[in-house]
Amino acid sequence: STYLTRKGRCSVEIFTILRFPDPRLKLVAQPVIRFDDSLGQTCANMLQTMYAANGIGLAATQVNIQQQILVVDLSAANNQPLVIINPTIMNKAGSIIWEEGCLSFPGIYAKVKRSEKINLEFYDPQGQRQNMSVEGLLAICIQHEIDHLNGITFVDHLSPLRKKLLRNKLDKISQES
Ligand code: ZN
Repeated sequence: STYLTRKGRCSVEIFTILRFPDPRLKLVAQPVIRFDDSLGQTCANMLQTMYAANGIGLAATQVNIQQQILVVDLSAANNQPLVIINPTIMNKAGSIIWEEGCLSFPGIYAKVKRSEKINLEFYDPQGQRQNMSVEGLLAICIQHEIDHLNGITFVDHLSPLRKKLLRNKLDKISQES
């Protein structure tokens, strides 16, 4: 597939998604400092990688890029992409429990408690500063992806007992990785 840049059409690469227990999932991403064509290409590749895997969110950490970039799209038609760079949660309110999954943990689902509403500052791929308030599934998804940028995965939120109950499934992914 292709996407448009100022220079014309570029080809898009599908990245390999790291799977648990890859130690690179624990790396902490650095802020993006250059908002150039290379960043645009990375964002386009991340979106296509997420769509190809039928995901609703993907963090750069999951494709072995240690930069603060995440992409989300909750639409059924994959036509509402949101690219969030260098995010900071300014405010959060409420709490919500949702059964989450993760492209790095195929077949694993677990209930995680997060803030129900967040206010977020970030940069778009053009380097423009943005502020956005979101709630519900979009807020959950963005918090999940920001965690990835900090080397944290959704199973890190589970109690020791819940983790123990998932142990067999986690071991199974480890053997397949
Ligand atoms: Zn994830």
